[in-house]
Amino acid sequence: MKLRGRIVDVGDEREVETKYGSRSLAEVTVRPEGDGWVPDGGQTDSGDADHGRAARGEDGDGQTTLGDADGETSLSDADGETTPAERDTGDGTVRLTLWGKWTHTVEHAEVGMELLAIDVEESEYRGETTYATGGDSRVVLEPGFLVDVTDIRSWVQCPRMYYLNKLSGIPLNYPVVKGTIVHEVFGDLLRDRDLEDSIDERVREAGLELGLLGRDADEVRDEVRRNAAAIEGWLQQGTLTEEDAWRSEYTLISPTFGIKGRADALRRGMPVELKTGKNTNREPRFQDKIQAAAYALVLAERGVPADTGTLLYTKNTALERHEESGDLSPAKEFSIGDGLLDFVVRTRNEIAAMEFDVSVPTGYEADARCEYCFEQDTCMVVSGRLDQESKAGQIGEAVPEDELEYFERFYRAIEAERRAVHAEYRKLWEQSAEERAEDDRALIGLEPAGNEELDDGRWEMRARKSDDAVSKLREGDVALASDGDPVDGHAELCRIRELGEAVVVTADEPVSLRRLDVYPSEIGVDRMLTALHDFVLKGDPDRKDVLFGRREPEFADGDASEGGEGDREPYVDNNAAQDRAVQMAVDAEDFALVHGPPGTGKTYTIAQIVAALVDRGQRVLLSAFTNRAVDNALEAIRERGIDDVVRVGTENGVREDMLDVRLERGGDPNERAAALRDAPVVAATTSTCGSRVMRENAFDVALVDEASQLTEPGTLAAVELADRFVLVGDHEQLPPVVQASGTQRGAASPNGSSASGEEPRPANDLQTSLFERLIETYPDASVLLDRQYRMSQRIQAFSSREFYDGALRPANGAVAAQRLSDLGVDEGALPPALGDPVAFVDPDGERVGNTNPTEADRVAEIVDAYVAAGVDPDDVGVIAPFRAQVAEIGRRTDVTVDTVDRFQGSAKEVIVVSFVATDALDGPIFEDYRRINVALTRAKKALALVGDAEALSTEPFYERLLDWARR
Ligand code: SF4
Repeated sequence: MKLRGRIVDVGDEREVETKYGSRSLAEVTVRPEGDGWVPDGGQTDSGDADHGRAARGEDGDGQTTLGDADGETSLSDADGETTPAERDTGDGTVRLTLWGKWTHTVEHAEVGMELLAIDVEESEYRGETTYATGGDSRVVLEPGFLVDVTDIRSWVQCPRMYYLNKLSGIPLNYPVVKGTIVHEVFGDLLRDRDLEDSIDERVREAGLELGLLGRDADEVRDEVRRNAAAIEGWLQQGTLTEEDAWRSEYTLISPTFGIKGRADALRRGMPVELKTGKNTNREPRFQDKIQAAAYALVLAERGVPADTGTLLYTKNTALERHEESGDLSPAKEFSIGDGLLDFVVRTRNEIAAMEFDVSVPTGYEADARCEYCFEQDTCMVVSGRLDQESKAGQIGEAVPEDELEYFERFYRAIEAERRAVHAEYRKLWEQSAEERAEDDRALIGLEPAGNEELDDGRWEMRARKSDDAVSKLREGDVALASDGDPVDGHAELCRIRELGEAVVVTADEPVSLRRLDVYPSEIGVDRMLTALHDFVLKGDPDRKDVLFGRREPEFADGDASEGGEGDREPYVDNNAAQDRAVQMAVDAEDFALVHGPPGTGKTYTIAQIVAALVDRGQRVLLSAFTNRAVDNALEAIRERGIDDVVRVGTENGVREDMLDVRLERGGDPNERAAALRDAPVVAATTSTCGSRVMRENAFDVALVDEASQLTEPGTLAAVELADRFVLVGDHEQLPPVVQASGTQRGAASPNGSSASGEEPRPANDLQTSLFERLIETYPDASVLLDRQYRMSQRIQAFSSREFYDGALRPANGAVAAQRLSDLGVDEGALPPALGDPVAFVDPDGERVGNTNPTEADRVAEIVDAYVAAGVDPDDVGVIAPFRAQVAEIGRRTDVTVDTVDRFQGSAKEVIVVSFVATDALDGPIFEDYRRINVALTRAKKALALVGDAEALSTEPFYERLLDWARR
């Protein structure tokens, strides 16, 4: 049986005398949760046929014994008395006795952690139920925390190495790039590709990276060829027969052991790992064995017990003559026994336990031998800067106390975010297929429509959608394609090519495509952490002085607020604020902030700023949170006549009309590197700025759009690549998206109260953008674009008053006075309720879950009325707070219906807002007044608000909204 629950007490490890000799024992008290008690045979069954072989019975003197497989546990204490800790405690908690190797758990267990014990022994003693580990048991700490197999490997080498890899990211270096190429060639060979074709293509694909590293393609090809000889030779050795079943790159997730990873290959169900280093010993390296064993553990959980692992050391065939001693055979097999698997679980537990309190770990050296460690320099710098004890020693001075505190705060926030990503992973098995579909996390019930092998040996899979289901999945996303069961069935990581009625994906291996799931990624979290590390530990001290409030930002003219005056030619005619924004950006010696409310010409201003900087010979990084914003800005820049630009991004991410300037990664290394290095303007999302390739670049100025939607570390990923930076955003619109629950800021309402009337919840540091923090600290370093070109005077009035201190105004009379009649619409044909450009309609509906069907009916009628009066349906948009209401309304109309988040950045002539709430004002739209600001400011000429007046008037903010709308 298995036991799962929260730990409420952790006992000490101690030695007891049993009739089998002296044994160690420890106890934990657990409060079982949910289905905490589950008989064996469920999904946690390891498939071990020996399960239950523990001897249960009465020994000679009538005492119950609970011997495990080798008879080492006993319910009798040394003096013959029952161990009280093994009883059901009667308060809903149970105590579990850990014997032998599992006593190690208590060194790491803490109250509050989740514990999962599988194959525990249950027995009765004097009316009490008792539990203990037996010979087949395994104990898992924090099973919901998914530890990557490669992290287990690093930890085994040195726990501090795990921590360093996590913190500083892996930089662009030749061994990593070469390793990736060799792995790809390995996959190609398994797919029967021609070796030379594969090497040519894979080296070509890595052209950009190799160029940045100053490598020559011929030499790399040669080196890869020599490494590939190990693979080829082994494949031809006869070790493998025709029946050998091969699979490359196998994605594995273990819900039981909290492990995820991608095995390089499986051969007859056994893990094969490729290492591009050498190993001339007969045995594989221990850490490599552990890596392969971790995959074996996960495979066993899926009912495929693997008792042999293979390590393929490809450099063994590429050694210089003087190195050729020892065992040169590249392939080394080893047997995987229970002991090794248990070791994997215990090591994984150590990592999960260390990560439990999300504080900055120091890592520790265990018995690592620092003198042979490749990470020694990084290790010493990190310990020096963070003032940590380290066996390797310290380099440099510790960062000041306030920077250390900042580092710790953000580290915690980022790790909380990681846990939110892990919670997303868990939903893969915690939610049923239907629940995931309902939550828009999966497309289910797909009908396979054929798989086709592509020229490169990969596969294209097609399926048909049987209904009009929608999901969060988008073309270009990496997703999990499966035969219907992504965890226990056959699943492959894939890239989505098409997502219409036909679903088309590509993957390394074919799968019968019946289901497509969102596959959560930790890349964003990893990159935030690296950006934080680079900024605090390696950042320019001068910049840190400003960002940590030790000095004011400086401008070339000495007074930021005055830019634009004097006798210079204006950068922008007829808009003083935009002109001043350009001047500030040009003059900024640290940074400038451009505050752009809706419709104020941010993109145009960005183009002017970039042009002015390029004119001065500055190299500019143009970045934004989304691909859409990057491409919009790039388009404006090109329209401004700047064509020497490079767009870094994936083919799917970059808008079609910007693909001509997209940086092709494959090709001649020198050429590719020059294309990136020499470009005066490089455009990429902030996430891409955290990539290895982009981290190799340096710029004079980084200009970041949508900066108010970015977390502080997310912004740092871009701005740390440049000497100076310009942030463009509006902190009165949507804040950064943070997933960690319970940590959202209450509401950034103008009056500081929370929208729900409750006290604001504790702030999460990620929830406040760097833009917002800086504009509040240094208002003089900012300029407000105060003229808007979008909304009529009537529509913009509420937003201007509530969010911009009344400073926002229409750019001219035509903008202010615009009406639907300008579009040829017969306003007289509209019903009286919609006679005014801002209308409020109370349909007297009732909220049902996250929908309000009556309100949906009314919204559809309103849309119809506008269309009937002559509004083009493409000019109408409907905003609703919940996806469910979006779907509800979507069933009643063909116009665009979406959530606020999806509408940010766009505008329509007519906007209809559905509030849904009829009682308490809860829902995403009410969490933050800024969402309302976004919703209202999407409209140009007409705005209809549909909601329950009584509910809305329970809050002063919405009361003011009603007054304005009903005026
Ligand atoms: S230098 Fe020493 S302590 Fe640091 S990561 Fe390497 S082995 Fe571990």
